[in-house]
Amino acid sequence: MRTHFQTRRLALIDPFGVSRETSTEKFNTFVEVDDGLGEAAPLSFYGESRETLEAVLPLLLAVIEEDPFAIEQSHANMQRRIGMNSAAKAAVDMALYDRLGKRLGQPLYRIWGLDPEKTPLSTYTIGLDTTEEMVRKTRQAEGYPILKIKMGQPGDLEQLQAIREVTDKPIRVDANAAWTPKEALSKIDAMRELGVEFVEQPLPPENVEGMRWLYRRSRLPLIVDESCKTSKDIPGLVGQCDGINIKLMKSGGLHEALKMVAAARAHGLQIMLGSMIESSLANTAAAHLSPLVDYADLDGHVLIAEDPYEGLFLEEGKIRLPDGPGLGVTPRV
Ligand code: MG
Repeated sequence: MRTHFQTRRLALIDPFGVSRETSTEKFNTFVEVDDGLGEAAPLSFYGESRETLEAVLPLLLAVIEEDPFAIEQSHANMQRRIGMNSAAKAAVDMALYDRLGKRLGQPLYRIWGLDPEKTPLSTYTIGLDTTEEMVRKTRQAEGYPILKIKMGQPGDLEQLQAIREVTDKPIRVDANAAWTPKEALSKIDAMRELGVEFVEQPLPPENVEGMRWLYRRSRLPLIVDESCKTSKDIPGLVGQCDGINIKLMKSGGLHEALKMVAAARAHGLQIMLGSMIESSLANTAAAHLSPLVDYADLDGHVLIAEDPYEGLFLEEGKIRLPDGPGLGVTPRV
């Protein structure tokens, strides 16, 4: 069995801001297991970095099974070796599924029995910036029918109003844990007037009581992201939100993401599928699950100046899955 990993710099087309930080470039680590490909996008918020990835990947790659069908066992081995580091595990997991699909000669969505026509529309994300820049990016997002607007900086409601003046597209908002419960409630009332569809992660994940308080009063649906990493978090989220945002970098890959889909549905929750700033490789991996979800935010690759891979395609926002075996992703070089 051949394994390899390499970190690559991904320059962003525009600086990308969320309530915690702004970035102009990302360093993602790309993994190979035989002919299977994977990608890790580390996030310091979840305790991962280029350094932790590069330290942990050799330990994970050393314990995976040679048998391409033994994915459950490979995950059990990885979990026993390292408790956390979900982005590192996600990269290995993607490579394992890609290798399996290539061995079977079928795309993953077909192996899972999913209809590629049932993919949702993906939002296009406008990161935090000056009002002028956010309005400019909104105007530029012509080819995307639904917008996701980042909020959580001073004056964010006024920024949202300025954006609303130049577009009548559906808008979803992500506060990335920046508000207090009372602040969130008053903004939600104003956002409802502006035609916002739902709000993602209004409060910090540790403010469980605040989320319960807000959920009882909110006139817009609430989706949690930072509050929900794996299926273990899901039962406790009932009564705090209407839905969860699944991301491979939080779940540790497709294997756990599938369990999260089942757990969320069993608890009556809606499902959004999101991504960090990832190339077409990791975004395509997530996209194979997208026929199972209600909402998608898989535009991370569109924000990268030179995407090293080719895979999913957003056609007027509609997610089009590649039909090659496994992930169906090919290097662009
Ligand atoms: Mg989010």
